[in-house]
Amino acid sequence: MSETPFDEATGGLPSADGHNDLEFRDPEKARAIADTLERLGEELEDPPATIMHVCGSHEQSIAKFGIRSMLPDAVRLIMGPGCPVCITDMPEVDEAVALAEDGVTVATYGDMLKVPGTTRSLDDARAAGADVRIVYSAADVVEIAEEEDGEVVFFATGFETTAAPTAAVVLSEPPANLSILSAHKYVPPAMEIVAELPDTDIQGYLAAGNAAIITGSGIFEDLAERHELPVVVGGFEPLDILAGVTKLVEMIRDGEAGVENAYPRCVTREGNEPAQEQLWDVFEAVGGQWRGIAEIPGANLVLREEYAEYDARERFDIDADSLGADGASRLADDCICGDIMSGTAEPTDCEMFGKECTPDNPVGACMVSSEGTCKIWHEYGGRPNL
Ligand code: SF4
Ligand code: SF4
Repeated sequence: MSETPFDEATGGLPSADGHNDLEFRDPEKARAIADTLERLGEELEDPPATIMHVCGSHEQSIAKFGIRSMLPDAVRLIMGPGCPVCITDMPEVDEAVALAEDGVTVATYGDMLKVPGTTRSLDDARAAGADVRIVYSAADVVEIAEEEDGEVVFFATGFETTAAPTAAVVLSEPPANLSILSAHKYVPPAMEIVAELPDTDIQGYLAAGNAAIITGSGIFEDLAERHELPVVVGGFEPLDILAGVTKLVEMIRDGEAGVENAYPRCVTREGNEPAQEQLWDVFEAVGGQWRGIAEIPGANLVLREEYAEYDARERFDIDADSLGADGASRLADDCICGDIMSGTAEPTDCEMFGKECTPDNPVGACMVSSEGTCKIWHEYGGRPNL
């Protein structure tokens, strides 16, 4: 990984030692970086430079601060499979619904409630009387299990950032009536798959700073080398994102592959090693389906055999198949969430965007989650140049 500090050409952001004395929302600095981007765009051999970010929190900042409107035409910034809610597969939701309908208390993050399973969501199950609870952290489920006499299942979703706290719960000898239904996913293999898609034109990745706090920026070195791509780890303030994009465009212009860390105040090359140890002690990465994208080797996190006693799939005979049998899927065939998450389409390319499909009546998973591209675009007016 290059340790070279970003130079003045990138607006001087940020220095490699992690020190950043700028205000992260300073409009003048942002304009200076936008000018740099304009110039870099003119120097590109083959514009537009297509950059994919893989984080719902990045998309929220990009929309909120109008960052796409600051980019020149020669730079295209798209969102990939960066929302853990959107990529949770229908059969995984079906398993949670089946358990809830069977009388088990199911606890999960709030965004998961409205995500459609094959025929029903957890919200539907709750409306029909099932005990479905919302939690804000993995630790909350321990409290629920302590208060309840019956079985409590944590429908655990999210990437490395939330899988590490789930692992910590498993290692904390939680109450015996608690088990985990893991739908946790691991991002790097998904980035590999998206980079390999035949119709992809991704030339660089803006990697998620939050996930990299756990895994470290070094995790992307193999990917960058194998696909000869630049990967820049970026933070979430407007200047963080602009600086990350600028570094990527510079590397694309120079034909340079490799990893840069544009979020050194939070991310190191090695990451949080104790959290990684806990994560890989409890979970192993196996192949699994990401909704609408593909079956991805090594991208689903399941509990290791040593922790089978806490694995809901071992503890219960989950009959999720019956959910698909009693009615047609309510997901429309022409929902293009999969294309959006693999970077080949944008929400406004979907004919249902803002019409049949709205946050109040989501047709696809991308309109459900606060980190889903369709929902974010809808919230900020549905303009592709956000
Ligand atoms: S969990 Fe991390 S990677 Fe996922 S959307 Fe949130 S910040 Fe981004
Ligand atoms: S607008 Fe709705 S139906 Fe269309 S891709 Fe997005 S989530 Fe799917």
